[in-house]
Amino acid sequence: MSRPFLVGTSPAVLREWAKSHGLPAFRGTQIADWVYKKGIVEPERMNNLPLPVRELIGNEFLAPGTAVTETAGSGDGTEKLLLALQDGETIEMVLIPAEERLTFCLSTQVGCPVQCRFCASGRDGLIRNLAAGEILEEFLLGCSRAGRRPDNLVFMGIGEGLLNFRELAAALEMLTSPEGFGMSPRRITVSTSGYVPGMLKFAELEREFTLAISLHAPDDETRSRLIPDKLRYPVAEIMAAADLYLRKAGRMVTLEYTLLEGFNDTPPHARALGALAVRHRCKVNLIPYNSTGGEFRRPSRQAIREFEETVTAAGAHVTVRVERGAKSVAACGQLRTRAKHPDS
Ligand code: SAH
Ligand code: SF4
Repeated sequence: MSRPFLVGTSPAVLREWAKSHGLPAFRGTQIADWVYKKGIVEPERMNNLPLPVRELIGNEFLAPGTAVTETAGSGDGTEKLLLALQDGETIEMVLIPAEERLTFCLSTQVGCPVQCRFCASGRDGLIRNLAAGEILEEFLLGCSRAGRRPDNLVFMGIGEGLLNFRELAAALEMLTSPEGFGMSPRRITVSTSGYVPGMLKFAELEREFTLAISLHAPDDETRSRLIPDKLRYPVAEIMAAADLYLRKAGRMVTLEYTLLEGFNDTPPHARALGALAVRHRCKVNLIPYNSTGGEFRRPSRQAIREFEETVTAAGAHVTVRVERGAKSVAACGQLRTRAKHPDS
């Protein structure tokens, strides 16, 4: 059997593990304190443990395998990290400080099988899922980089998290468990491209996580030009799943809308989006597109403002994503793509 990740193993399991090796249960508690209170996963740094116990941990659990290989700052405090995993694959995370609050943007997969046409993350499809332990190591690397815990987490990095449901759910459990990292589920946002089977399972957790749906178009015809058929669900089914989420989790859902000039930014799109948001009690977040070098372009500031006003006039609550990190390969997947395809 493969060795487990230390981070992600619960304190209760660590106590059992200690006992099964003839150690007192409190050794398990000490290990859990290092991991979940101090954010330290290297056994050699756990200096209140006897040397043989540190060695035993090293033999029985996977050594922390994720490392920062590249960083890109943007002048506004946003910092993007390229992380290499144990097997050499790479993912990204972003640290976003804003108004006293620190947000981490985390990845859930290496690559992405959805392959939205405007997104760099899906360019080579899915390479593999991240294990829960890898998602949590990503979190811990962010903490050590920032020197503190984040206030908010958003799963808006590389990958479609709801297609990696089991590992994402295990990571979320440890992030929110009082015995784990103890974050409030309200401060954690999972973003999905509208993968309906995953949304239904997410609703069944009946936890107060925030759900964001990358809708990008209020109708199937427009949407089909942005998202390939294989993993795209009808807007009606996505909105029914959003309704279920509101009922089960008791949380308002956000509709994310990446604005692409000439594709989804006309007044009829804005009116239909506004009507949909009102009918399903969703908030709207407009995301000005960051160029990834393809056929798409960001609409002008004026066009973005007009779109926002039209959605607002329909009665919806709208925010426009503040442009952060624009100078530093900002869109998800761009740093990884540049590292993999240096010519692009
Ligand atoms: N797979 C999930 C989460 C990761 S993508 C999802 O699609 O929701 C997170 C967000 O980044 C999505 O809303 C996506 O549309 C957006 N995005 C991807 N590439 C972008 C780009 N080049 N410019 C602006 N937003 C982008
Ligand atoms: Fe995948 Fe999200 Fe990028 Fe679409 S936008 S390819 S779902 S990461």
